[in-house]
Formats: sequence, C-alpha cells, structure tokens
Amino acid sequence: MPVEKRPGCVTAEELVDYFDRRLEAEPERRLEEHLAACEDCGSLAREVYALSMKWDQWTARSHADASAAEAGSLRALLDRALGRIRGALSKEQLERWKGGAEGAVKVVISEAANVTRIVTEGLETLLRPAARWQFIPVEASSRGVGPSARGKPGGVTQVETPEPGPGRMRARVGMDAAAGKITVSVEKYPADRNYPVVLLVPISEGAEPESGKWKSVPDPESKTVNLYAEFSRRKPGEYFIAFEPLDEERPS
Ligand SMILES: [Zn+2]
Repeated sequence: MPVEKRPGCVTAEELVDYFDRRLEAEPERRLEEHLAACEDCGSLAREVYALSMKWDQWTARSHADASAAEAGSLRALLDRALGRIRGALSKEQLERWKGGAEGAVKVVISEAANVTRIVTEGLETLLRPAARWQFIPVEASSRGVGPSARGKPGGVTQVETPEPGPGRMRARVGMDAAAGKITVSVEKYPADRNYPVVLLVPISEGAEPESGKWKSVPDPESKTVNLYAEFSRRKPGEYFIAFEPLDEERPS
C-alpha cells in the first residue's frame, strides 16, 4: 500500500541506501535528523533495518555455504511441495524432479516497507546438478547489482536467466510489490513439449505450496510458446520459486 508522505519524510528506498551506507554526508545527516523527529519514519526505519539485517545474514550464510540445517530444510520444503502435487505429475516428471530444480529464486516480501527482494544465490540445495537456469537481476536501474534484485518500494523487481542467445529459452521472475503479485515467464519454450511445473513454496511453517498455471502465447515462426503465470495476493514473508528440470534434449 502506498504510504502518504509528508515533506521531509524518507522513503524505504532511501533507508535501504542509508543502512547500506550509500548516502552522501549531507543527505545522511538530513535523514538522521528527520528520523530522530518523525515517529512514522522511525518505525519504517526499524522495518527496513530488520529486513536488511536478515538479508545480510542470508548473504553471509550463502557465501560461507548455507548451513546444513537451512539447506536441508529448503530441500525438505521442496520435497514436501512435490509430494502435495504428486498426483498431477507424470512418472517422468517425478523422476526429473528427483535431482532438484532447473532454477530457483527466493522472494522476500517485507511487512510494512513494501520492499521486495529476489535472491538468486545460496539456493544450490534446491537445484539439480548442472542446473541451467542461473538467475541474475534485470538491470532495471543502477541499483540492480549483486546477488539479489531489490525493487523500489511499491515497484517491480525482476530477475532473469542471462544471455539466452537467438532462439533460446529464457526464464524470468518478477515481483510487483504494489499489487502483491509474483509473475513468472518462460520465453521460447518448445511448443511440442509439456510445460514445466513451476512451484511457489512459502518458507514459513505450515503454509501451502502452489503450482503456477501457465498461460501460453504461441510464436508460430519459431514453433515456440511464451509462458506466463502469476501468483497473486502474496502475503509478506519468504518464498522460493522452483522450476521443473527441462528435458535433456534441447532445441537447436
Ligand atoms: Zn517522516
């Protein structure tokens, strides 16, 4: 939800920059003065601070190799999610999923600050060996660097698989913070194959996983389809998205 701003009030984005120590001396001083005086911005700052600390811990862990417990629990969540949709999967699909996903990202939706991150590292435990889809942030702004994409508050955050080359598949995950909507897409998927299952799995305990419903738009020239699915009305929290492994055979 958009927060009405008074003159001098700070945005969640400015606070993210502030905690990352990316502000110049003068804006930093103004911001600190304002925080000391404004209750609303003070509580927004606490929210953003909690989020960025969480993020730093996550990054530290992923760089030092995620702890076995955490890695194990992500994988267990994936296996549980697959168990829930077993009936909808063919034998071949179940076999393919055994090694892990083709690609995975983590989506973090913050409580009040309306900021989203899509984390692309530290998810190896979810991936099959030699998984092809390594997501990177879409460089929508100069800020979209590093192992996660961080949206403007209320804005859209996107990651994609890089440099697909002509005629190649490309997967993308986006989060529209204002609409609370996560979108996934695959470009140039071979029209004659079964569409890959895409799972949204809440990391919080007890929440139910969801399987994306693809809409396809054919591209007759290349005999491929573009696939779109969305997960709407997402509550704040942490999720991961996992894509079914592709057939070994590839379009040339
Ligand atoms: Zn304020």
